[in-house]
Amino acid sequence: MNVIYEPKGRAREYAPLACNLYMGCTHGCKYCYAPACMHKKPEEWHQAARARGENVLALFERDCARLAKERADDEMRRVLFCFLSDPYQPLESELHLTRRGISVAARHGIKVDILTKGDGALIEQDLPLMLESQTHLGITLSFINDASRREWEPMASTVQSRLNILRKAHEMGIYTWVSMEPVIIPDEALDVIRQAHDYVDFWKVGKLNHNKEVERNIDWPQFRDNATALLDSFGSRYYIKEDLRKAV
Ligand code: SF4
Repeated sequence: MNVIYEPKGRAREYAPLACNLYMGCTHGCKYCYAPACMHKKPEEWHQAARARGENVLALFERDCARLAKERADDEMRRVLFCFLSDPYQPLESELHLTRRGISVAARHGIKVDILTKGDGALIEQDLPLMLESQTHLGITLSFINDASRREWEPMASTVQSRLNILRKAHEMGIYTWVSMEPVIIPDEALDVIRQAHDYVDFWKVGKLNHNKEVERNIDWPQFRDNATALLDSFGSRYYIKEDLRKAV
């Protein structure tokens, strides 16, 4: 079983390669797609996290070694942690799978891309390692009001914690990016850009999917135009995901 895999569909727009070191995620986001992917009930998936098997790091190391060999003469593709879980959820403070995974990858010359809504203090401990290993730090952030964040991402970190860790990482010289997806309250998403553009190196912007009730009340072309105009005005680098690009 390969633990590093090539994502398909929408996830492919995020990363050419990914790995899930944890199964389950206690952040409990209401829009979470992971339970459906894994044929689980949301309450079951969000109740507890666990390592993806006792030997997940050994399997990860084996896959890193294979990748390094296959692509020895080529630019290494980054491996994203994680799609089906959060690499900095509370269990990371005990198991350190993400920290150890970054080190394992670095040993084989493979670079990691983090995507998290985890606690800033937990992430901060790994910033020196991220800097040294040229890991990119991605934070999901589409709300500026913490009450909105609490409604949709009840157990994830606060908006302020995410802004702080982005700033700190950027100041240290770590490449930072924001996954602004799913956008649920367009005006708040635009405020995130206004607030954080100074210390975010790259933005990925995507719409809400699989929630018709909320989606149909949003003028997506208008949001897309506003977001791109704002990002352009700050000279920011960005990628608009296909669903949002094609939204009419
Ligand atoms: S952080 Fe990601 S995996 Fe975890 S509950 Fe939220 S959407 Fe799901």
